[in-house]
Amino acid sequence: MELLFASANVHKCHEASTILGPSVSIIMPSSLGFSGEIPETGLTLEENALQKARFIWDIFHIPCFADDTGLEVDALNGAPGVYSARYAGPACSHQENVKKLLREMEGLACRKARFRCVIALIRDGHPSLFEGIVQGSILTAPRGNGGFGYDPVFVPLGFNQSFAQMTETDKNAISHRKRALEKMALAFP
Ligand code: IMP
Repeated sequence: MELLFASANVHKCHEASTILGPSVSIIMPSSLGFSGEIPETGLTLEENALQKARFIWDIFHIPCFADDTGLEVDALNGAPGVYSARYAGPACSHQENVKKLLREMEGLACRKARFRCVIALIRDGHPSLFEGIVQGSILTAPRGNGGFGYDPVFVPLGFNQSFAQMTETDKNAISHRKRALEKMALAFP
């Protein structure tokens, strides 16, 4: 079956293809001639995932899904959460986000955090939601050069290395996105 991924991120598309296997063919809106922006103005990860999936469904009426991820820090009452991509400002870099996070957490003993990914899938006009979580903690200084976003300051529970110190394969094996995609995969025959 064909499944549209409401995203412009080729890397995510490849990851989803690998996890969903050969019976599902993942296609991107760009391959159907779509070149616009997919809106993302919700106040929660669920709202954003639903908004993106609904937007693409309304155009193509092909089964589709969208994801949204946030880093939730307990000591910051769940921030940056849905604002993870623009925590330090509207057009900020990943490094600026990490800097702000470390500044906000300076001196805090509780470093508990999680990445939470929400996927919205629409197959017949009605959405289903799937959630993937990886628990961990926030370092006091960045470590490692791999990955992206908050990877240099996030150590998954049960590991000593930050996500940025792990190989991409090791990170993807336990990632929030992988866990959400695996749950969605169970919805397919
Ligand atoms: P998105 O919803 O996947 O675009 O993620 C929103 C933001 O969350 C990104 O811009 C990153 O700042 C952060 N983020 C999402 N996934 C990861 C990850 O696997 N590692 C580090 N940061 C991430």
